[in-house]
Amino acid sequence: MKNVSEKMRACFSQGTMMLLKRISALSKELGRRAYLIGGTVRDLLLEAENLDIDIVIEGDAIAFGEKLARELHGMIISHKRFGTCSVTTPEHVKIDFATARKEAYAKPAALPTVEFALLKDDLIRRDFTINAMAISLNEDDFGFLIDFFDGAGDLEHKSIRTLHDKSFIDDPTRILRAMRFEQRLGFHIDTHTANLIIKSIEKEVYKRVEKPRLRDEIILILKEKEPFKIIKRMDEFRALKIIHPYLKFHKDLHNMFDAIDEACLWYQNNSPRKRSIEKWVMYLMALFEDVSHDGTLYFCNIFEFKRGERLRIMSYKNNGRKILKTLNAKRKIAPSKIYHLLEPLSHEVTLLIMAVSRSDAGKGRAMEFFHKYNGMRTVIRGDDLKALGIKIGPHLSRILEKILYKRLDGILKTKEEEFRYAKKLAKRKFAKGAG
Ligand code: ATP
Repeated sequence: MKNVSEKMRACFSQGTMMLLKRISALSKELGRRAYLIGGTVRDLLLEAENLDIDIVIEGDAIAFGEKLARELHGMIISHKRFGTCSVTTPEHVKIDFATARKEAYAKPAALPTVEFALLKDDLIRRDFTINAMAISLNEDDFGFLIDFFDGAGDLEHKSIRTLHDKSFIDDPTRILRAMRFEQRLGFHIDTHTANLIIKSIEKEVYKRVEKPRLRDEIILILKEKEPFKIIKRMDEFRALKIIHPYLKFHKDLHNMFDAIDEACLWYQNNSPRKRSIEKWVMYLMALFEDVSHDGTLYFCNIFEFKRGERLRIMSYKNNGRKILKTLNAKRKIAPSKIYHLLEPLSHEVTLLIMAVSRSDAGKGRAMEFFHKYNGMRTVIRGDDLKALGIKIGPHLSRILEKILYKRLDGILKTKEEEFRYAKKLAKRKFAKGAG
């Protein structure tokens, strides 16, 4: 066993080290052994930044977490069904505790049922050797690396390797995880593991997985720093069909992903209103560029995307290309028209339209929308209109909208001009009503 406590001191802050020592003392007091585990250990050995602290307890992790939270005056969230909990310290450090568990698969690809077991049983259920190492937090061997499957050797050889041959049958989401870790870390999937992946894709084992679990892995892929590389790798393995049977690696995809990065960077640096952008949703829309409306809708529904995500994806599918065509037009377009087209869209959809626009005119108009038009308001307000005798309701909103459009087009400039125009519109309505 190798002692890696030097590395721990070098990589973790002093505060984190003190916290780990506290956990160590608690584990002695409770007679429950505690280990750092999984990605935390992998990234520590790689000296890569990782803000997650994952700990496995040989025994009841929730009771352990509750005691620690009480001692630290921290907060705890428990998941009884899984025997896990998260403790957040007053300094906002989050530690995830899990109960060491052995998996009994009711049927392949189902969610594991949890039962108490020792560390090795817990590690053997993990996806890859590099994720199946532990570091002892126990007083007698604090800082010792426990590595039953030579994960450290695989880290050295930059290799992604499963622990056993049935790994991808037990849990096909690991197919996607293998490619994600491979590309993120700049590793390679070892030959035997690659063959297992190819065979399990051929057998379509992924069809048995609950779709939301696959969805979560797809989102994780698209949230990586360089998702395009992973998508390309998935194509090489013919694994894109795990996402959708008609998903093709279209030749424009690389350009689209690059353009999305550029558009998001522009937005970050230039947009006056910094609403946070979910870039992964944009990548997903790009990925589905050539899939039909019905195919995309079906995908959104069976993978159970959240309502807001589904609406954004479908809004691009329904309107994106049409709006792009209008924006790319050579003729002059009034700002109110640009506003009318883009204002109802989510920022992700507008940014994607901007990204994929091949014309400077189209890009410029989308940029102008973010810069100038978005967030522009009339000077007069609803209350001013009420004072003119206009009742609250759709008519009042329509008048405000018409005033805004004239303001966007530079026709109304002052509050007085807006008032005059509002009165004219109100009179027109009454005249119509009277008539
Ligand atoms: P990341 O840096 O992406 O968070 P991670 O290794 O911490 O990487 P998680 O998804 O948080 O990844 O999972 C934590 C650990 O749980 C992994 O390191 C791995 O040991 C184990 N694990 C996660 N998903 C699976 C899976 N599908 N099959 C087996 N083990 C898994």
